[in-house]
Amino acid sequence: MDFAKTIVDWYAQHRRDLPWRDVGDPYKIWLSEVILQQTRVAQGLGYYKRFVSAYPTVEDLARADEDDVMRLWQGLGYYSRAHNLLKAAREVARQGTFPTTYEGVRALPGVGDYTAAAICSFAWGMPLPVIDGNVYRVLSRFFGIDLAIDTTEGRKYFAALAAHLLPPAGSADYNQGIMDFGATVCTPSQPLCREGCPLAETCKAAAEQQPDRYPVKSRRAAVRNRFFVYLFVTSEVGVWLHRRGPGDIWQGLYEFPLLEFDHKPTPSDVAAHPAMATLGIDPASLAEIVNGMKHVLTHRILLADCYVASPLRKLQEVPEGFLAVAPDELPRYAMPTLLERIKQRLISLGVQGIVR
Ligand code: SF4
Repeated sequence: MDFAKTIVDWYAQHRRDLPWRDVGDPYKIWLSEVILQQTRVAQGLGYYKRFVSAYPTVEDLARADEDDVMRLWQGLGYYSRAHNLLKAAREVARQGTFPTTYEGVRALPGVGDYTAAAICSFAWGMPLPVIDGNVYRVLSRFFGIDLAIDTTEGRKYFAALAAHLLPPAGSADYNQGIMDFGATVCTPSQPLCREGCPLAETCKAAAEQQPDRYPVKSRRAAVRNRFFVYLFVTSEVGVWLHRRGPGDIWQGLYEFPLLEFDHKPTPSDVAAHPAMATLGIDPASLAEIVNGMKHVLTHRILLADCYVASPLRKLQEVPEGFLAVAPDELPRYAMPTLLERIKQRLISLGVQGIVR
């Protein structure tokens, strides 16, 4: 069986009609690739459309205000992608044009091997293999490769195999084809081996009847619980917010004052937390309103409580590093999904100081 031809033929019949396909615009292809990392197409599509409508060109994005970009990104997670997107757009604007070589694209902030290859292949048809999670899965299953994909040896092996399989002409269709095939036929769970997969006849994993065995990974990172308590503090000057700093997955997003614990905290633990004094919060004012809201990240499970709290004194000022926001202004501040969910809970409970 000619593996590449089978994929290209399958793609010609089953390709998904997506707005960033066949546009030849590296900016739009790049935008779609960044959005679709860690995000399914169905969810990413709306974000892509909103971004293109707000920033039709890379120059428009380069001129954007960071808070506006973060607000558009809100809910997608992995916020460093949005920061890098903006940084790279500004770099492109500084250079005056989108780089047109693999090396030039790869040098942009936040652009790795995969994204650079995808942009160069899909925008200009450069003969480069594009290897994402879908490609690792399809290749490892079809060829029955049990080399771990998270090792240098494994990555090198798959890179060489992918380069070897790349057809001399039409590499963009092949690359998009194998990615689509992995996303819709050779899916992580319940692949369609017996439901029309055109590779089934010679697929090793199907012959072994264990597609789930592939791809192999050498280690699975331990998942750790983190215990957060957010304080919803309203004072005369407004609701207290803090902007997350650099080096953080939620960099640039806003949140309520946060206390962290190494265990599930009781109300007395919260009242005794040293930050209560630093923030000037009255421990007697604490009232728990959200308990154990769960938010799952790749290697962390966040378990968040939220307490309504008041400052010790009627302060006109907020503690250093915080700002006070009028309740009806809150929607203008981009928050991580966990905080958005807490905010929605506060709204549904009719907590004073928060408005729909
Ligand atoms: S037969 Fe099954 S495991 Fe093999 S490529 Fe097709 S869907 Fe994937």
